[in-house]
Amino acid sequence: MKKELDEMLNRLNQWEAANRDADLTQMEEAIDAELAGIRQQLLEQMAREGENPEARVVCPNCDQTMMKNGQKKRILRTKNGDKVTIVREQMRCHECGMTLFPPG
Ligand SMILES: [Zn+2]
Repeated sequence: MKKELDEMLNRLNQWEAANRDADLTQMEEAIDAELAGIRQQLLEQMAREGENPEARVVCPNCDQTMMKNGQKKRILRTKNGDKVTIVREQMRCHECGMTLFPPG
């Protein structure tokens, strides 16, 4: 994203150099056109990230990418001492066999 922003600023600088006598409206239009492009890229990027919340889970022991190990029951204890059972996708490390539930 940093790269796209730098490129946008470069393009605006070039535009400014080539349009020294541009009035405010023309400057605004040039900036708006660039911002619309960046806005679209940001939206696409954020939408993609939202699609895949459990993209990659890394084993805290050996830094290997963990594999899905199926849905498992997980019992949580609340502050009041009540038990809450939830079913979550468990991850398993194929190197050391460690299992964990991804956060969230
Ligand atoms: Zn491991």
